[in-house]
Amino acid sequence: MTSTTNTITNALSFDIEDWFHMVDIDAVADPKAWPTLPSIVVEYTHWILHTLDDANVKATFFVLGWVAERYPELAKLIGDHGHELGTHSYWHRKVYDLTPQQFRDDLKRSIDVIQEQSGRKVLGFRAPSFSIRPGTEWAFDVLGDLGLRYDTSLFPARRGHGGYPCPHRPHLFNGAPTGRPIHELPISVMRLGPINLPFSGGGYLRLLPGAVIRYGFKTLNQRGLPVVVYLHPRDFAPECPRVPMPLHRRFKSYVGLRSTKGKLKMLLHRYRFDTCARVLGIDPSRTALK
Ligand SMILES: [Zn+2]
Repeated sequence: MTSTTNTITNALSFDIEDWFHMVDIDAVADPKAWPTLPSIVVEYTHWILHTLDDANVKATFFVLGWVAERYPELAKLIGDHGHELGTHSYWHRKVYDLTPQQFRDDLKRSIDVIQEQSGRKVLGFRAPSFSIRPGTEWAFDVLGDLGLRYDTSLFPARRGHGGYPCPHRPHLFNGAPTGRPIHELPISVMRLGPINLPFSGGGYLRLLPGAVIRYGFKTLNQRGLPVVVYLHPRDFAPECPRVPMPLHRRFKSYVGLRSTKGKLKMLLHRYRFDTCARVLGIDPSRTALK
């Protein structure tokens, strides 16, 4: 680890949703069935909070509105531990499948429930499955209209559900229809020749060897860039229920679950982390509503 690496503060984030919020899996696509399914989100959010307390690290939790409403103590608990609360939408629908009005209604519902329960202002958004892609720039105007200060949904690599070419660093996004700028914290990729390889979250972090993940941190941090880590409660849950899905999704969804706890602890030990808002330089002292 170089001294340069030591001085960079990386962004740590968790998308707080249940195992059955995976997109495009027919067996769990109907929200009416969700309340009948076994849940892992509370148990593993507790594990994450405990682990971050032990490491004395603060992170951003992008909570699904549906989860907040179903477990009304969860958003408050996260805030009481000193973490930042963001929104991951209400129903976990892909942004490009919605009209601007549907997106606005869904997003407002999620912000209202998270703020009401936690007493803290929501500043940031992460789209379900990083589903802001070219053509859905109107979403940034909706974020601004609803008082959000930043987005962390752009995924500058090839992807099944999104992908958006953009600078590989925190920047001001100017491409909304009104031209109103908003802070953007894109997902980290490392350059391997012509390939942009994600390495710091979800299935990528579960599947890649620790040495590759550390190489990604090194190459970005040496250029002065923060790495954005994103994980879900289900990334730590090897016993989470299995549902029918295509083989390639099964592999990406379930491989590496047993190693993720160790990888997170390794990262917390080696690198400096903070909330997305603070990495973007947004003043978190204004997040108290009361
Ligand atoms: Zn999600």
